[in-house]
Amino acid sequence: MGINIAIDGPSGAGKSTIAKAIAKKIQYVYVDTGALYRSIALHMIRNSVDVKDEEKVCENLVGLDVKLGYVDGSQRVILNGEDVSELIRTPEISMGASAVSAIPKVREFLFDLQQNIAKENNILMDGRDIGTGVLPNADVKIFLTASAEKRAERRFKELQEKGDTSTYEEVLQDIIKRDYNDTHREIAPLKKADDAIEVDSSDMTLEEVVDCISNIISEKVNPVKKNKTDREMMPVQPVDRNAKLGFFRGLGYNFVRCCVKIAFKIWYKIEIIGKENIPKKGGHIFASTHRSYADPVLLAIASKTPFSFMAKEELFTGNKFFAWLIRWLGAFPVKRGKGDTEAIDKSLEELNKGRNLIIFPEGTRSKDGKVGKIKTGVALIGAVAQVPVVPSAIIFEGKLKFRKKIILAFAPAIDPVELGINSTSARELKILKSRISEDINKLVDENVNKL
Ligand code: C5P
Repeated sequence: MGINIAIDGPSGAGKSTIAKAIAKKIQYVYVDTGALYRSIALHMIRNSVDVKDEEKVCENLVGLDVKLGYVDGSQRVILNGEDVSELIRTPEISMGASAVSAIPKVREFLFDLQQNIAKENNILMDGRDIGTGVLPNADVKIFLTASAEKRAERRFKELQEKGDTSTYEEVLQDIIKRDYNDTHREIAPLKKADDAIEVDSSDMTLEEVVDCISNIISEKVNPVKKNKTDREMMPVQPVDRNAKLGFFRGLGYNFVRCCVKIAFKIWYKIEIIGKENIPKKGGHIFASTHRSYADPVLLAIASKTPFSFMAKEELFTGNKFFAWLIRWLGAFPVKRGKGDTEAIDKSLEELNKGRNLIIFPEGTRSKDGKVGKIKTGVALIGAVAQVPVVPSAIIFEGKLKFRKKIILAFAPAIDPVELGINSTSARELKILKSRISEDINKLVDENVNKL
């Protein structure tokens, strides 16, 4: 999975020019999704299909082949084998694209193509629904706007340079109409994603907008980027993988664990898949999907070695007995927004005691069981500690309730040492993170139908 940057906004806000310039600067692949809708509009218009006639448009999608290619870093749209990149830049095609893009089957038709490109590359993708629909987990989301008049002015100049005879008033009306279509359509209407950063380019020069968005991107992608320089890289501190917990500590823990296990097995239908992949000793990270507050207990049922896991600091400041209990169960406090160092130091300390560490790399619970985007933290701790990571999945449908079937699945451990990962460079962290993400996704995909 590459780093994904989504830039959405209305027509003529300068998305493509700006996104292209930034992509070149940061060496990402630029994906102009508008061009895909435009190529569909071209195909329909060429075949005398009314772009507003949903039925006819859908009929004419059958067998259509749309691809994106790159020549010297610049995107080309290939329609049934023909490069139509230049032909789709006319006002007629703009209006056509706006019409066909409101048809659900057209959006479906282009959806996988867009997602697949994002999976394989570091990309900067521009469109209308990238942050809200195509890449809801994008690393950075920008919503680029400008007043309709400013946008019309810019587009008018562009068209004039190409020898187009449209008047300013016509261009402005086109923009207003397209804005209306794009924001009022039922499917994937243009709107700012809740977590997008809005940039209004009305009174900014092109360079100013490029700088502004580049700064936002570098701040957001920083945790990985920062590791690029030796000075900022976190040193590798291999933990003692032979450390053993005190005998009585292990005994007490396993007594409680057995009681909880019996209670959980009565209450739920628990199946463990991949038992052979559960390590017999400490010094491992379990990177697991996160479905409920019971997850640390469920994982503890599967493994005899006591776990440690991070929990938010607030849980330790309230009820004293509760704080003692979760500490005893292996939780340690992490201050939110305090940066990685403190959490990493504490994780190393726990691993060095001979415990295993649970990390929920998505960072948040998944309500529907879909695996979200994995954060870099798990790879960072794995690389610093040089310990194997066991991809784990907690799989059940809906909410936990009496006699609910729960699958606990474990894949073979990924050993950073075997992968040749001996530093925390961005490249190495990315390799480790991708492997962890792939294996967790595979675990869920392979086992979800066993529920
Ligand atoms: O961005 P561009 O002006 O090339 O897009 C052409 C049309 O395609 C837009 O007016 C919009 O209706 C549609 N579009 C879309 N979703 C995207 C990109 C473009 O609906 N992600």
